[in-house]
Amino acid sequence: MNLILLGAPGAGKGTQAELLTKKLGIPAISTGNMLREAMRNETEVGQKAKNYMDNGLLVPDDVIIGIVGERVAQPDCANGFILDGVPRTVAQADALEKAGVKIDHVVSIEIDDNVIEARMTGRRVCSKCGESYHIVANPPKAEGICDDCGGELVIRKDDAPETVQRRLAVYHEETEALKGYYERLDKLRLVQGNQPIEEANREILRVIGA
Ligand code: AMP
Repeated sequence: MNLILLGAPGAGKGTQAELLTKKLGIPAISTGNMLREAMRNETEVGQKAKNYMDNGLLVPDDVIIGIVGERVAQPDCANGFILDGVPRTVAQADALEKAGVKIDHVVSIEIDDNVIEARMTGRRVCSKCGESYHIVANPPKAEGICDDCGGELVIRKDDAPETVQRRLAVYHEETEALKGYYERLDKLRLVQGNQPIEEANREILRVIGA
């Protein structure tokens, strides 16, 4: 099963992708995590992405299309995958289509901007493996430490309030159009994001028929 998770920054895509990975046994592919790792490792992709990411802007399509194309071709994606945070533009969606990547369901996690702005202040991510947490909604077992790898939990630089506002604006201007794109292909499934994590997850499993 090949899935896309759509939704504004902070809607809960990363959290839901991690749960779905465990339940469905298919990998989650987060372009945000891949880019943050590339930045930590100071690769060419990381260097290209840094300024865009720090400022809450989209990384150019050609960079994204390159890293996603390589990732979905890896053997662990043979039985399916979950795309988290990609595609974010019509050009990226077209590139997936052209590459022959078959998509079964596009789940859009729906949530109001004002709820997101309040949520983002509690978000933490693991500086080593990228796993995401929230100090209230999804806390780690030990404060400040990743349950999975023991890495230090940090606040993402692009979760600063002004940057969150810019990312929301970018979502509405460039990414939200993908809902219409996938609705025309009869693949769009809407899920309410402003509910407890496990309930949102059950709703996702129901709309994808899993
Ligand atoms: P995320 O972790 O998904 O919120 O992504 C963090 C940042 O990485 C975004 O604000 C963009 O700068 C960049 N990014 C991640 N995925 C994409 C994508 N598919 N297209 C363009 N930029 C992306």
